[in-house]
Parts: sequence; structure tokens; C-alpha cells
Amino acid sequence: MTVTHEIPSYDPPKKLALVLSCVDFRLLDDIVNYLHIDNMTNRYYHFALAGASMGLTDAWKCQHVQPTNYKKPASQRCQFTQEELETLFSPWRQTFVHQFQAAMLLTDGKISDVYIIQHQHCGAYQVYLDRGAENWPLLYEQQVHKQHAEKLRDEIKSTFDTLAKSPLGTEKLQLKAPEIHNLFMDLRGHVVNLDTVPSK
Ligand SMILES: [Zn+2]
Repeated sequence: MTVTHEIPSYDPPKKLALVLSCVDFRLLDDIVNYLHIDNMTNRYYHFALAGASMGLTDAWKCQHVQPTNYKKPASQRCQFTQEELETLFSPWRQTFVHQFQAAMLLTDGKISDVYIIQHQHCGAYQVYLDRGAENWPLLYEQQVHKQHAEKLRDEIKSTFDTLAKSPLGTEKLQLKAPEIHNLFMDLRGHVVNLDTVPSK
């Protein structure tokens, strides 16, 4: 297991967390390890989805804005049409919303933090958005992930009351919107705070 001693600066979570990560098997132990050294052992729900925040908002559509050094247009580098991706990602979004609600219900609203953990060389970005994603320069790659994670953070904040409300119509909990940490993990398990990465 990789030992990482660098924790990006953010206030330590006070209660429980919901962790959103990619399903990538290369980093499962690194994610657990990172959360352990962040003093979060056994204090989080873990929701894993290909690409993490990638398909959970419509920010992926910006992926069709190209970095200047690409020769082929997006339409030739993505095997799916925009309509196909919208159809594909829609239930992912619904499932995330339901799992967010479930986490709130199961903890009596004690989710104080959300970790959005994106990662380097994500296969989902290659499969769904850009066959050339593995060749993205690191800064550009981080900026794309930052864009997607920030959009999800904005949407969670703006729709928190709706997200937190029980789909079963049970009593509404006294809830405070969680702190949301947007992180990017490299393939050795080192983590950077995407808030410190300059936007495109
Ligand atoms: Zn991935």
C-alpha cells in the first residue's frame, strides 16, 4: 500500500463523509490509505462510478472544446455521439442522487463532507470522451477533471435540499450542506487539491 503523507489543506471533516471515486482497481488501496491518513477510517460511505464526477453533470460536453495541440476533431476521437452519452449518463446521475440521499438517511444527516476523487489516466475518460486522453498533458488533464468536479460541487450545493430530502418522503432532517473536497490522485496515490490547479 502506498504511503502518502501529503494531505491537501482543507478543514478536517467533523463527522462522516461520502466519498465519490472512480472504479479503477489500480487505486482502490491508495484511496483507502489516503482516507486513513486523513483520519477518516470507517467514517465514510464509498460510492464508486466510472470516471467519478465525469458523467454526473453535463460538464463533459465541454470536453469537445479542444486543447490546441490536437489534430483530430472531437467527433473523430470519441466513439459515442453526444446524444448517446446523454442517454448513458442520465441513469448514473439518478443513481448518484439516490445514493446521496441514502447516505443522508442512513447517517441521520451526519454527512459533513464529500470527497470527489478524480484520478490520472482514467480509463473512463478514454472510453467515453477521448481515445487520446491517455496522452493529455498532466495540467490539461487536471484542468478537465477540475472542471467536472467543480460542476458537480456546484450542483450538489445548489440542489442540496433536494438531494438531501428522502425519496421515501420521511421526515426532513436538519441538514447542513457538506464541505466538498475536489481531489486528483496520480497513479502512485499522491493527491492534489484541484482547487489549487489553475483553471483553463
Ligand atoms: Zn478512472
